[in-house]
Amino acid sequence: MGQIGIVFDIDHTLVVDNKLERVAFLHLLEDVIEDGGRALGSLAEESDAIDALLVQQRSGACSIEEAVRTFVTARGVEGRQHYVERFRAKALRMVEDFVIPAPDAKRTLVELENRGYAVAVLTNGWNPLQRRKAGRAGFTGAVLASADLGVQKPDSRAFTAAAAVLGLPPADLWYVGDDPGSDIVGALGAGLRAVWIDGERTPYPRGLPPPTARIAALADLLALLPTPLPTC
Ligand SMILES: [Mg+2]
Repeated sequence: MGQIGIVFDIDHTLVVDNKLERVAFLHLLEDVIEDGGRALGSLAEESDAIDALLVQQRSGACSIEEAVRTFVTARGVEGRQHYVERFRAKALRMVEDFVIPAPDAKRTLVELENRGYAVAVLTNGWNPLQRRKAGRAGFTGAVLASADLGVQKPDSRAFTAAAAVLGLPPADLWYVGDDPGSDIVGALGAGLRAVWIDGERTPYPRGLPPPTARIAALADLLALLPTPLPTC
């Protein structure tokens, strides 16, 4: 057994972000109304519309910049690029308060480093937001974000990009994530091992290929992994 790499998802794996981007959009709505625009419905309806837009954006249908432009244009204001900058700044400012690391994330990452594993993060989203979120869990290594890669999980090219960054073949990588559709299916399809972190004890969806292993908490990962060879 040679060097082993561990690649993590961020949201609901290393951290929870407490709907950070939804709230950043709601703050943007406040700005839009101040600037003469209009809401399209109640706050609850706007929240639903924002969630739908974010689902679309995270699926790769559009970039976060395009999502912001779509949002403000539909609410009747000009200066769309200006709102993109405002949205990004708001989201980044919110990280410290909104993003909470999983209870055992920091300790697990330190232990992985101490044991000599190569570690990276692969996430659907945009930098520097995702890098800053990973930082809340104490992670300062490579954070590959789909907006930079031009492909999203579960596309196998996202996972092979992570393998390239770590300089390891996919077969020597373990991907850890909470989303069966994008994390587990994607990782297995690209030839990685896939660990499903199931903190909510939900049933694994029928019809999808099963994960290599299932854990309830990040700390459980340590017992699963083969010992890496020491490097000089
Ligand atoms: Mg996730």
